Amino acid sequence: MDIFKIRSLFPILDEKVHGKKPLIYLDNAATSQTPTPVVEAIESAYFHRKANVHRGVHCLSQMATTAMETGRDAVRRFIGASSSSEIIFTRGTTEALNLVASSFGELLYPGDLVILTQMEHHSNIVPWQLLQARRGIRIKVVPVLDDGTLDMEVYARLLEESPRIVSVTQISNVLGTVNPIRRMAEMAHDAGAVFVCDGAQGVAHEQVDVEALGVDFYAFSAHKMYGPTGIGALYGKRELLEKMPPYQGGGEMIGHVSFDHGTTWADLPYKFEAGTPDFVGAAAIASAIDFMENTAGIEAMKAHEDALLQYATDKMKEAIPDIRIYGTAPDKASLISFLIPGAHHYDTGVLLDQLGIAVRTGHHCAQPLMERFGIEGTVRASFAVYNTFQEIDTFIQALVRVNSMLR
Ligand SMILES: *Cc1c(COP(=O)(O)O)cnc(C)c1O
Repeated sequence: MDIFKIRSLFPILDEKVHGKKPLIYLDNAATSQTPTPVVEAIESAYFHRKANVHRGVHCLSQMATTAMETGRDAVRRFIGASSSSEIIFTRGTTEALNLVASSFGELLYPGDLVILTQMEHHSNIVPWQLLQARRGIRIKVVPVLDDGTLDMEVYARLLEESPRIVSVTQISNVLGTVNPIRRMAEMAHDAGAVFVCDGAQGVAHEQVDVEALGVDFYAFSAHKMYGPTGIGALYGKRELLEKMPPYQGGGEMIGHVSFDHGTTWADLPYKFEAGTPDFVGAAAIASAIDFMENTAGIEAMKAHEDALLQYATDKMKEAIPDIRIYGTAPDKASLISFLIPGAHHYDTGVLLDQLGIAVRTGHHCAQPLMERFGIEGTVRASFAVYNTFQEIDTFIQALVRVNSMLR
C-alpha cells in the first residue's frame, strides 16, 4: 500500500487548522474523508448526467438510472449479497435501522422480545424504543464486560426466552470491540430469531460478507467508508423483505395507485425506496468501493489500521502510564477511547484541536454504554487508511502537552 499516493487523493489532509497547524484527522469513526475519485464522480453526475431516475424515457434519465443501479450492484458485490433486489438505498445506517424496526416491527406483537446490547449506538436503540411504545414489544440488553466484550453467557440465556429479533453492532464505535457476529447470528437463528447487524463501523474496516456472516439484515452508511454523506444501504434477505410492509409511501415505491381499487407496491428493492432517491450518492458509492478495494486494498487497509492501533496504544500507555483506555478486547478495530484521569474529555478535545488534532469527545451516541462505565464521555481517536505513524507521534506529543496542562 502506497500511503503517499493514498494521501494525495485526500486534499483535505493538506488543510491547516487555526491558520497554522497542519490537520491531523483522527475522527474517522464519525466520518471518514472523501478521496478525489468519489468527489469527481459526484461532480461529474451534476455536470453531465443529472436527471431523475426510472421515470424518464430520455437519454440522461437512462444514464442516471444505470449509474445508480451500477452503484447498487457494487454494494451488492461489496457486501457479498446474492441479489441487487436485497439492497435498499437509505439515507444511512440510522434510516436503515429505522426501516427494519418500523417495517419488520409491524410483524411483531405485544410482548415480543427484541435483544440489543449495552454497546449499541443510539440509532440501534431508539428505533426499537419507538416500536416498544407503538406495539408493546419488550427489549432486553446483553451486558458489556470490563474489557469491552459482550457477556456471551447472558446472551445465551436471553436467547432461551425466544426473542423475535436480535440487533447488534458489528464493531463498537466507542470501544472498537469486534463482535462475534457469525456466532451470534447462528445462535439467534437456533433460537428462532431474526438477526440484524449494524455495520456502520464494520464496512469501513474489514471485508464484509453478509451471507458468510449469516445476518438477515445489515445496515451501513457510505460516509464512514470514504463515500458521500446522505446515502447508505440496508441489506435484507429477500424472503423477509417480501413479507414486510412498505416503510414510507410515495413515488417510485408503488405498482399502481388507485383511490377506488387500492394501491399495490413495486417489486424489491423499490418497494422500500419512496421518493426520488439520492441517485448521485448511490452512483458515487461505487467509486468509494473501488477506492477501498483497488487503490487501498481491504486487507492492506486493515493491516495498516491494526498497526496504527497497536502503535498508538503502546505509545499512549508509555507516555501517560495512568491513562484510562476504554475497550481492550482482543479483537479490536482501529480506534481508542480514553480519558486523562482528572481531566474533562471536552477540555482534552479542545486543547488537542488547538494543536491541530481532530478527535471526537462526548458520549458518541452511546449513553447506555457511558453509564455502564460510570462516565459521561471519552475522547476518541479513530484511524483510517490515510493516517500515518508520524501523525500518531505528533498526536502523542500533543497529548503529553495537554496532560501537563490539565493536571
Ligand atoms: C455512525 C454510526 C451509526 C449511525 O450512522 P449514521 O451515518 O449517523 O446514520 C450507527 N451505528 C454505529 C456503530 C455508528 O458508528
